[in-house]
Amino acid sequence: MATLVIATKNAGKAREYGQLFAPFGIEVKTLADFPAFKINENGQTFEQNALIKARTAVDHLGLPVIADDSGLVVDALAGAPGVHSARYAGDHDDAANNAKLLRALTGVPAVNRTAHFHTTIVALKPDGAKLITEGRVDGTIRQQPRGNNGFGYDPLFIPREYPDKTMAELTIDQKNQISHRGRAMRALMAKFEGWWQA
Ligand code: IMP
Repeated sequence: MATLVIATKNAGKAREYGQLFAPFGIEVKTLADFPAFKINENGQTFEQNALIKARTAVDHLGLPVIADDSGLVVDALAGAPGVHSARYAGDHDDAANNAKLLRALTGVPAVNRTAHFHTTIVALKPDGAKLITEGRVDGTIRQQPRGNNGFGYDPLFIPREYPDKTMAELTIDQKNQISHRGRAMRALMAKFEGWWQA
């Protein structure tokens, strides 16, 4: 069976991708299935970081790889936290990241608190065949967190599609329908077979 590697150690992310590829009879592995190697995620854009992850993994493993990079882009903060979203305040510390975001937006009125989540996905084969897709969801940043679902900045983000709810108050299905990652994944699947068979 052909193998596809998802360039993540995040079990939740791996499961989401695994479901997408199950119908193709593909064995899906993650970085947790291989000896560790270092990835220097020092790009300035989501696409650069996704490409760095994909390229590093392909070079080490010699297998087709899918890598992604996501984050929150806040207009009033010149695009911050952007590619630094995971480590804005503390390393994957959601509460500290959210608190820092609220501090940075102190005094910014609701009308100027526009933001979007972005995802870039890169699929790369050892022969260089490449597929890049993107997704985004637009919304605004609340004054206080609300809701218990999701992760990261979800409790502060009001998506345009649900103006009375934060992303952390949506069900998983509702979030997947509108989320940056859901949209990027559907765009990937629309072109996946052509890339995989090439
Ligand atoms: P990653 O590239 O998917 O690991 O995302 C990087 C960081 O962006 C995460 O650690 C979160 O802080 C933030 N982020 C990405 N996607 C979401 C989301 O769907 N909701 C909330 N925060 C997110």
